[in-house]
Amino acid sequence: MSNAWKTYSPQQKQDVMDFNDMYIRFISKGKTERRCVDQIIELAEGLGYRNMNEIIYNKESLKPQDKVYFNMMGKSIVLVHLGEEDLEKGMNILGAHIDSPRLDLKQHPLYEQDGLAYFDTHYYGGIKKYQWLTLPLAMYGVVVLKDGTSIDVEIGEHDSDPVFVITDLLPHLASDQMEKSASKFVEGDSLDLIVGSIPEDDQEKEAVKKNVLRILKDSYGIDEEDFVSAELEIVPQGKARTCGLDRSMVLGYGQDDRVCAYTALMAMLEQENLQRTAALLLVDKEEIGSVGATGMHGRFFENFIAEIFEAMGKASDLKVRRALQNSEALSNDVVAAHDPNYASVSSPHENMAQFGHGLCFAKYTGSRGKGGSNDANPEYIAKLRKIFDENDVIWQTSELGKVDQGGGGTIAYILANYGMEVIDSGVPLQSMHSPFELASKADVYEAKKGYSAFLKHNK
Ligand code: MN
Ligand code: MN
Repeated sequence: MSNAWKTYSPQQKQDVMDFNDMYIRFISKGKTERRCVDQIIELAEGLGYRNMNEIIYNKESLKPQDKVYFNMMGKSIVLVHLGEEDLEKGMNILGAHIDSPRLDLKQHPLYEQDGLAYFDTHYYGGIKKYQWLTLPLAMYGVVVLKDGTSIDVEIGEHDSDPVFVITDLLPHLASDQMEKSASKFVEGDSLDLIVGSIPEDDQEKEAVKKNVLRILKDSYGIDEEDFVSAELEIVPQGKARTCGLDRSMVLGYGQDDRVCAYTALMAMLEQENLQRTAALLLVDKEEIGSVGATGMHGRFFENFIAEIFEAMGKASDLKVRRALQNSEALSNDVVAAHDPNYASVSSPHENMAQFGHGLCFAKYTGSRGKGGSNDANPEYIAKLRKIFDENDVIWQTSELGKVDQGGGGTIAYILANYGMEVIDSGVPLQSMHSPFELASKADVYEAKKGYSAFLKHNK
């Protein structure tokens, strides 16, 4: 393992910084899966990708080097760049997820208590709840009215916008609270945002709530019952930032797994004249088990591949299965980086990811004896070593952490169900799943380089 920074020329170091500036802009705008999909479509269309639904509707045909995307309900997206080789021989696939831990508003979110109005939330994904107290928070999402009108909501990011907050107890009165364990420090149902304190004139009961409802109606055309058909996500307010005096790191929300999504996207978009077909899967719902129509367990990817065969005049269920089974994939997801402040949970020796040591491979994840993990084949890993070494990609390998300290999963095992070769690879993070996660800019850069080399390889 080598430290990437030691290998960079001044020009390469500048390239690393420039690439990360673009990455910082992407995650600052892409605070939800929907906002990521919007940005991805804009970038992809700018480089010649076309919406598959249009191709199907117009009964157009597809040929090698055509670029198409499939937008799954605005929350997952798949890009395919057709190669010269028969699609049946498989694809080079990159997968990552674009959902991140957050707080979602409940179906009936608004209530008033003791003269203050609140939004009630239900957290999404694995969070340490106490980390969400006393931070400025922003709200994103959609409210869909009964007539089908979708109202896009974004509150908190502009200087003139209000923000939201979940309060905490002052230390002067916290002697009981401070005795609680971290998991009980704040209960899930206490993660409520304060949204108002002015009572509406001439109202006796719930006058503050009524004032908030009036503002929602005037500003957004939303009635209280419209929250039932809303998807509103609470995320940390503010932009991602460069971190450290040497400017070597990125501090920002949602880097799990938008750091892999962005680097894989940039690798995908720079491909030209491919021999083998390349596919990029950027999916929703990984943080809650890859469930639902927009999660990796959904069938949209294989359906999209079937549509491509149809548009190439080769419709066949068997060809779809062969294309998937003959594919090779990198399941790109963040890994835990060694943190000297919490060294006791790192895997010892050289089995823990280090900041600045490049793109990281995890042969397996899981918990309690690799439970639930995809355990990649050594034959496949050997091949990847060759690809990355030949392309001067700086890479490392890692365990999730010390054995039996916990565990986690990715989308790798779901791709493996198709019978393809797959391994987890990703960018190491400190403070993973916190409101502000930390990455090394060198690792972000090496990830893009590695993913690009992978997409070009011939089987
Ligand atoms: Mn992840
Ligand atoms: Mn995660």
